Amino acid sequence: MTTTIVGFPRIGAQRELKFATEKYFQQKISAATLLQITHELKISNWQKIKDSGVDLIPSNDFSFYDNLLDTAFLFNAIPAQIAESNLSTLDKYFALSRGYQGPAGDFKAWPMKKWFNTNYHYIEPQLNQQTSFQYRGGKIKDEFLEAKAAGYLTRPVISGPFTLLALSEFQDGIQPSYFTDQLLEAYTALFKDLAAAGADWIQLDEPALVRDLSAEQIKWFKDFYQQLLAQKGQLKVLLQTYFGDTRDIYQTLLDLDFAGIGLDFVEGKQTTQLVKSGFSNDKILFAGVINGKNIWRNHYQQTLKLLASLPAKKIVLSTSCSLLHVPYTIEPEDFPTQIKQHFAFAEEKLTELWELDQLRKKLHPEYLTANKKLFDHPRVKENTKLRQKIVALKPADFVRQPDFETRRKIQQKALALPLLPTTTIGSFPQTKEVKKARAAFRKHEISQTEYENLIKDYIKRWIKWQEATGFDVLVHGEFERNDMVEYFGQHLDGYLFTKNGWVQSYGTRGVKPPIIWGDVIRREPISVKWSVYAQSLTEKPVKGMLTGPVTILNWSFPREDISVRESTLQLALAIQAEVLDLEAHGIKIIQIDEPALREKLPLRKSDWYSEYLDWAIPAFRLVHSKTKPQTQIHTHMCYSEFGDIIKAIDQMDADVISFEASRSNLEILQQLQAVHFKTLVGPGVYDIHSPRIPSKKEIANELHEILKKIPQQNVWVNPDCGLKTRGEKEAKESLLNITSVVSQVRKELSFGE
Ligand code: GLN
Ligand code: ZN
Repeated sequence: MTTTIVGFPRIGAQRELKFATEKYFQQKISAATLLQITHELKISNWQKIKDSGVDLIPSNDFSFYDNLLDTAFLFNAIPAQIAESNLSTLDKYFALSRGYQGPAGDFKAWPMKKWFNTNYHYIEPQLNQQTSFQYRGGKIKDEFLEAKAAGYLTRPVISGPFTLLALSEFQDGIQPSYFTDQLLEAYTALFKDLAAAGADWIQLDEPALVRDLSAEQIKWFKDFYQQLLAQKGQLKVLLQTYFGDTRDIYQTLLDLDFAGIGLDFVEGKQTTQLVKSGFSNDKILFAGVINGKNIWRNHYQQTLKLLASLPAKKIVLSTSCSLLHVPYTIEPEDFPTQIKQHFAFAEEKLTELWELDQLRKKLHPEYLTANKKLFDHPRVKENTKLRQKIVALKPADFVRQPDFETRRKIQQKALALPLLPTTTIGSFPQTKEVKKARAAFRKHEISQTEYENLIKDYIKRWIKWQEATGFDVLVHGEFERNDMVEYFGQHLDGYLFTKNGWVQSYGTRGVKPPIIWGDVIRREPISVKWSVYAQSLTEKPVKGMLTGPVTILNWSFPREDISVRESTLQLALAIQAEVLDLEAHGIKIIQIDEPALREKLPLRKSDWYSEYLDWAIPAFRLVHSKTKPQTQIHTHMCYSEFGDIIKAIDQMDADVISFEASRSNLEILQQLQAVHFKTLVGPGVYDIHSPRIPSKKEIANELHEILKKIPQQNVWVNPDCGLKTRGEKEAKESLLNITSVVSQVRKELSFGE
């Protein structure tokens, strides 16, 4: 036993799982067909892993939707309404992941949350007094047997109890410890059952251990695992961590009776140091040396050196986390070999594990020679001018002048907007017609002029509609973009795009992150012609619409040959050029979206500023620091969970920020009030993610709540996100309700004075 992986992608190289599951949802295929398709997918993955020489294969890393949900479901920790319904097991599972409406009643899906610092989302178990954890067999065992029958002896994987509780939501005021005894019994029963079925290993995923831990949490972990491991019999337990290091609990891990400990040597800043301080002779170190999150080739020489420095007696080579976060394979992509050879997607990472293992056994030196060649010379030529520009950046380049209050007065005069200005977040519904035209244009079936005329048509219609509806600040509608990162990347030098590099974002949804290949330069204006066209149609201000540098970086595969900070500054300068171009062309309001700003916030609070915000926030400021005082800068975020970094948000020094507030109650308003938030705010007055139309009453209530907490001169009124995924009719009705409520409330306010 020498090599393994934490987990493998499960959506299928051609996204077979997505398409099959969606067909099942639409009742186009039966459950039996879906199971057959997933069976074939799993077999093909297991075979691929085996063929590549990896000798310990995981199972139950597969999921129909999400692994954390799988764990809650396995232990039957689900609401009685679902558990006792006469739905099939599979449909009960899907009811939790996507909600249910039918003979068994109405059930709202469990919430979806971001998985640590990734763009993957898990389903958050909702636990209350009625919940009880019990093991009675289920998918983990079925899948183990399924693999065994096909000739693969696998290591079943499941979320550990600590992470399960750390990521669940507790209702009715109960505490996590309420579930300790039940969980202990459930995991014990699972261990026994898997051992009886022939498993010799089990992997418990405990990524929550890489966050800051309290003494109480450490004690809970120790007590729980001491009792659980006393019952393990012959079963060998691998405690798997990822996304960071285990500095708060490392010694405890060594003291407990685990057969293996999996550590992340890529993101775990202190992992090497911890292991060097001592490891246990009766344990196997599962060394996560192959990056499970990024797509570059491993640097063999460095890895071999690292491995040689570790005191562990037995080391299994592994990935830093599940390969779920990278696409299947680079193989079918059209890049030239010189480019392609630098990438390792999931399948190529399997090969890397095998090659590294050969090398550490002093076999196949040619693998090292070939790998060295990749790193002998810089992969890309640097853009000297750009590099010098970044080196020459001074503190003043990150500060907009004059200060916020002074700008505010100048903008009030220049823009002369009414009280409670109304606007939208940027995109309007992307109709089939637009999407079809874009596809046809890409395939050269229609000319650029034809395509652009269609887009202009849409812009014109929507500008007229917004004017007629009474919006104060208009948008062009973003009809020209499919995606807020890809569209920008396509106009930047230094970006690469895959045809098929899909990564699961949640359930059946995938994303195709572009790759930052080299130095980033704005090749040409990106959005200027659309904004200028829209502005030419109206007297009202049209907001320019850009994606911010931190979001572009966070939704791309970043470089590893330069720091993310430096890459972000390159992106910031590219977007700065676009901002200044828009301004020079008469655009008076510019919105720079940063919906992914919070995503890469370090998992340890102690690292938030030093490792991230201290450069991410200035990078945003660099984008707008050179604008004229009368140009109004907006930003947008798709969430309002920024109470804990509220100061940093204010330091972005935008003039206006819009964010989602309606779903997450109005707690954020209190926080804004408490810190005297200076930036003007547009808390979304309704949730665009659901297909319903908010009534005027609902919007008015929301607005009144906002006005109770925020001075009226500081309030903007808008939906909580862009409308591109909505239907045209519902979008228009919802927006009409906004303007009508606002004119009513304005009247009330002026009578009040
Ligand atoms: N301007 C973008 C839009 O309206 C913002 C999208 C987002 O926040 N994710 O679609
Ligand atoms: Zn949004």
